[in-house]
Amino acid sequence: MSQQTKILLEEHEMPRRWYNIVPDLPEPPPPPLHPGTHQPAVAEDFAALFPKALIAQEMSQERYIDIPDQILEVYRLWRPSPLFRAHRLEKLLDTPAKIYYKYEGVSPAGSHKPNTAVPQVFYNAQEGIRKLTTETGAGQWGSSLAFACAQFGLECEIWQVAASYRAKPYRRTMMEVWGGKVHPSPSQVTAYGRELLAQDPQHPGSLGIAISEAVMEAVEDPQTRYALGSVLNHVLLHQTIIGEEALLQLAKVGDTPDVLVGCTGGGSNFGGLAFPFLREKLKGNMDPVIRCVEPTACPTLTKGQYRYDFGDTAGLTPLMKMHTLGHAFIPEPIHAGGLRYHGMAPLVSHIYALGLVEAIAIPQTECFAGALQFARAEGIVPAPEPTHAIAAAVREALACKESGEEKTILTALCGHGHLDLGSYEKYLAGEMVDLDLADEQIEAAMQSVPEISST
Ligand SMILES: *Cc1c(COP(=O)(O)O)cnc(C)c1O
Repeated sequence: MSQQTKILLEEHEMPRRWYNIVPDLPEPPPPPLHPGTHQPAVAEDFAALFPKALIAQEMSQERYIDIPDQILEVYRLWRPSPLFRAHRLEKLLDTPAKIYYKYEGVSPAGSHKPNTAVPQVFYNAQEGIRKLTTETGAGQWGSSLAFACAQFGLECEIWQVAASYRAKPYRRTMMEVWGGKVHPSPSQVTAYGRELLAQDPQHPGSLGIAISEAVMEAVEDPQTRYALGSVLNHVLLHQTIIGEEALLQLAKVGDTPDVLVGCTGGGSNFGGLAFPFLREKLKGNMDPVIRCVEPTACPTLTKGQYRYDFGDTAGLTPLMKMHTLGHAFIPEPIHAGGLRYHGMAPLVSHIYALGLVEAIAIPQTECFAGALQFARAEGIVPAPEPTHAIAAAVREALACKESGEEKTILTALCGHGHLDLGSYEKYLAGEMVDLDLADEQIEAAMQSVPEISST
C-alpha cells in the first residue's frame, strides 16, 4: 500500500499556543456562580483551589495563549502525536468513508490527560505550591498528574474512586511509581469520607465524592492546591493542542473532516479536538458535523438538564451552568470509568445548547464490538472511553456504505486500554451488559440540584 497511513508533524511544526474558543462564540458562556451568594464568581473565589495563572486562563477572553517553553519541553516527550488514517478499518467495514484518528495514547500515562497535567503542575510550581491533590476515576488523570508532578518536583495526593481502586491495582502502582500517594475514595482521611464509609463500608465511590475529598484537603493547607482533569475552561484550553495539531496534519494531506466525533466524559478530549475545528467552521473554512458521544449509562448531554449545579457531590465548588444528571448522581460502575461524571464541561454544554454540536449516547456492548473491530484492524487496543467515539465512527462509516457517500470522519483515540484489559476480558466472556438509566433515577438525582433564581 503506497498511501501514507501515519501523518506526522516535525517537532518544529508543533503548535506553540493554545486556543481559547470563548471570544469566538456567538454568545458568551454563562459565568460560574459563588456557591453561597449565587453571584458571578470572581478570581478570589477560586484562589484556595488554583494558582493565579490558571484562574486567569479560566476567565480569559484572549483567543490565543502562548505555551511556555518549559511546558513545550515536556510536551516534546510525546508530542506532536500521530494522526492515523484507518485504512485497515475502512477496508474491514467496506466503507467508502475515510476515517482518521488522532492518537493520544502515546503519552507517558497513555492518554490525552498529560496535555493539561503538565501545564497545571508547571503554573502551580511557578507560584511556589508544594503539593497538589486530585481525584481519579479510571486512574488516567491521577497517573497523568503524578507524572507531571514528578517532572516539576511537586508532591501529589490522589483520591481514587473506590470501585476502580479495587478493580485497577496497576493504575495505582503507576501513580506510585511516579511518586503519587493514593487513597481509595471514600477514604478515612477526610471527615466526609469517614461519614460515607460509616453508612456503607463497601461504598463504591464516585468522581463527585473523590473531588470533594481532594478539595477538602487542598483548602486546608496554603501550600497545597487542587487540580481537576476535565470540565474547566483552562483544561479544555490546554487540550486544544490536539485539534491544532490535527488541523495541521490534515492540511498536509489536503483533507478536511465532514464529521468529527469524540467521546465526552467531562468534555476535555472532545473540546480539545473539536474547538479548533469549530473555530474554522465558524469562520466558514469548513463545515463538519461535530458530535459528542456519551455512554447510555451516564447520558449527561442527551438526558441531563442544562442548569447550574455543583461540580462535586458535597457541594463545595462554585456553581457551573452545565448539562447535569444532578451532583448526587452515582452512575453504575460501567467500564468506561472516565465517562462516569454527573456533569459536562460548561463550554461543551454551552455550544451544545447553542446548537453548534450534536450529541448521541451509545451502549457499552456496541462500543466494545467496535473496539474489537478497531483493534483487529488497526492494532491499537483502545481505552474503554474512546470505544464510544470509535463506535460512532463505525456507525457513520456504515451509513456511508449504505449511501455511497465518501465522507471524511475524524476522531480522537484519546487513550490506549493496556490497563483496562479486565473490561475486554468481560466483553470477550460475554459477561458485559448494557445498563439503561431509568428516568426515575435521573429525576431522583436532579432533586439535589439547587434552585437558582436566574435560571
Ligand atoms: C479521562 C478520560 C476521558 C474522559 O474525560 P474527557 O474530559 O471527557 O476527555 C476519556 N478518555 C480517556 C482515555 C480518559 O483518560
